[in-house]
Amino acid sequence: MKVALVTGASKGIGKACALRLAKDGYTVVVNYSSSDAAAKETLSQIQAAGSEGMIYKADVSKLDQVKLMIREVIKAYGRIDVLVNNAGIVRDEYLLMISPDTLDKCFELNVKGYIYCAQQVALKMFKQKSGVIINMSSVSSKFALAGQSVYSATKGAVNSLTQTLAKELGAYGIRVNAVAPGFIATEMIEAIPEEKRKAYVEQIPLKRFGTADEVANMVSALVSDQFAYVTGQVFVLDGGLSL
Ligand code: NAP
Repeated sequence: MKVALVTGASKGIGKACALRLAKDGYTVVVNYSSSDAAAKETLSQIQAAGSEGMIYKADVSKLDQVKLMIREVIKAYGRIDVLVNNAGIVRDEYLLMISPDTLDKCFELNVKGYIYCAQQVALKMFKQKSGVIINMSSVSSKFALAGQSVYSATKGAVNSLTQTLAKELGAYGIRVNAVAPGFIATEMIEAIPEEKRKAYVEQIPLKRFGTADEVANMVSALVSDQFAYVTGQVFVLDGGLSL
C-alpha cells in the first residue's frame, strides 16, 4: 500500500490531486481546515472509485496540528509515500494596501505550512528511505502580476524551498519538485471580478484557464517513477501565460 497526503484537498486543485492519486492506486489522506462537507464529498468520490482514504481536519499553518495529523496518518497506515503541499491562500493587495494580517496569513499558510508539513513528513520518509514531495507553487512566482506582491513572494519562497529541500533530502531517496500553475478554474479564480478574468484570458496564448485535473495530471506524473531522476525543479503549467 502506498499512501499520499494532500493538504487542502476539500476543493479545487487539491481535490483533483487527491482523486487522481486515488485513481493511481494510492490510499489518500484528504486534509482540509474548515469545509467538512466538501472534504467528505472528496472522500466519497475516492471510495466510489474503489480506493481508500481518510479525511483529516487540520490547519496546516499550525505546527502542533501538523504533528498530530502526521501521527494519526502513521497510526492508521504506517507510512507516507507522497506529500502534496497544496493548501494555500491568495490575497490581492497593492503595496500601499498590504495589511499585516495579509502578510501573516499568506506567509503562515503558503510558506510556514509547507515547511511544517515537509519537516514532519520527512521524519517518516527518512525511515522509509523513499518519498516524494510536491509543492504547489504558482506562475506568480515567475511572472509579475500587479497586486500580488505578497502572494508571489510566498510562491517564490516555495520555489527556493523546493530546490533546497531537494538538495537536503536527495541522499535519503526523497525527491522534491514544484508545480507552478497559471490561472486554473477553481474557487480562487472565481473570486476575481468577471472583467478582470476576461482580461487575463486574453493574455493566455492558449486562450483559456487551465483545469484542476490538468494540474493533477502533472502531479501524478511527477510522483511516478517515470520522473525518478527529477528533483528540485519547478514545472510551469500556464497555457503559455509567462512566455
Ligand atoms: P481553493 O479552491 O481555494 O482551495 C483551497 C484548499 O485549501 C481548500 O481545500 C481549503 O480547505 C484548504 N485550506 C485553506 N486553508 C487551509 C489551512 N490553513 N489548512 C489546511 N487546508 C487549508 O484553492 P486552489 O485554487 O485549489 O489552490 C490550491 C493551491 O494551488 C494553492 O497553493 C494556490 O496558491 C495554488 N495555485 C492556484 C491557482 C489557481 O489558479 N487556482 C494558480 C496557481 C497556484 P477548507 O475550505 O476546508 O479550509
